[in-house]
Amino acid sequence: LNRRLAEFGTTIFAEMSALAVRTGAINLGQGFPDTDGPEEVREAAVRALRDGRGNQYPPGPGVPELRTAIAAHQQRLYGLAHDPDTEVLVTAGATEAIAAALLALLEPGDEVIAFEPYYDSYAACIAMAGGTRVPVTLRPQDGAFRLDLGELRAAVTDRTRLLLINTPHNPTGTVLTREELTAIAELAVERDLLVVTDEVYEHLVFDDAEHVPLATFPGMRERTVTIGSAGKTFSFTGWKVGWVTAAPELVTAVRSAKQFLTYVASGPFQYAVAEALALPDSYFAAFRADMLAKRDLLAAGLADAGFEVFRPAGTYFITTDIRPLGESDGFAFCRALPERAGVVAIPNAVFYDHREAGAPFVRFAFCKRTGVLEEAVSRLKSLA
Ligand code: PMP
Ligand code: GLN
Repeated sequence: LNRRLAEFGTTIFAEMSALAVRTGAINLGQGFPDTDGPEEVREAAVRALRDGRGNQYPPGPGVPELRTAIAAHQQRLYGLAHDPDTEVLVTAGATEAIAAALLALLEPGDEVIAFEPYYDSYAACIAMAGGTRVPVTLRPQDGAFRLDLGELRAAVTDRTRLLLINTPHNPTGTVLTREELTAIAELAVERDLLVVTDEVYEHLVFDDAEHVPLATFPGMRERTVTIGSAGKTFSFTGWKVGWVTAAPELVTAVRSAKQFLTYVASGPFQYAVAEALALPDSYFAAFRADMLAKRDLLAAGLADAGFEVFRPAGTYFITTDIRPLGESDGFAFCRALPERAGVVAIPNAVFYDHREAGAPFVRFAFCKRTGVLEEAVSRLKSLA
């Protein structure tokens, strides 16, 4: 393994899911739903397969039906107009979109600012692209992890090329506010930075939180690469259909890298996701309401079990602080949790450069059936 990748080892998601299988513990670690997405979308995939649509290499940018549907989704939800032919690119999940964007846009030595804790593929992809990651730490404040805008400003140097944003944010559940996004946009314009914004949890925002794409802010349309995922939005994480929307030059750049990573992927599923994106608002509302009820169930259960709970405004993850349980090392806690309570969770420290800043935080996923969450909650009570 080369020096760029040596520090990354096996992803925590694979490690913890293997631990769940080995111990038979309930897996609230890796973020995947235990209920597949809508029946009609599954049927659409079957039809595509049967009718021979997408069984051979689809077009490099994605099938036209899906690119059109992605553009229509961005227009319908956010008023963002994109030309399906030049401003939309289908990728093998958001994971490939992140990789291709960073490989395409970074020169060796360029600095990339990302919020810490960050989704684990960010660090690895920045490294593969020869970039340098500059973490800005989100810190607990009034029950949520918040961004310090002063710290963000101070992190920008003459070598900064790109801001890598994620809202709603995995693993903390923070949703950036309009004010914060305005400040980020102003900074990007002032310092002439590119922005890659991972918005895969765009449909999972709760209470008063609102998802506002960065691309909608003044001066951002031309410098922002926006990333979405059918895995997250329609609960088909195995299909690996993601997408990029951006200005033509940026899409062309990302595509240049993408064509040598997977070239294309997920042929028949692309047709199914095109139909999914056209589902009525009621699908998205029901999906959100379902996850909201699950959030409340797990949040209450974790609080009962003695965790400090950071109630997420978005995503399907809850970050907790284990110190009220008399614990301080999230790694040790998560490695022992299957034996102690029959549950698997993720130590947030893996998402930090400053590991000590993340040490006491542990993430639980709530994209699971109600009965599974209830059983997990009842098991976790033994910790209190
Ligand atoms: N970004 C974030 C923040 C995620 O949580 C995930 C998936 N867990 C991804 C990207 C990857 O999405 P996909 O499965 O579409 O590759
Ligand atoms: N994004 C999911 C999570 O955060 C997992 C994705 C993966 O396994 N790479 O749990």
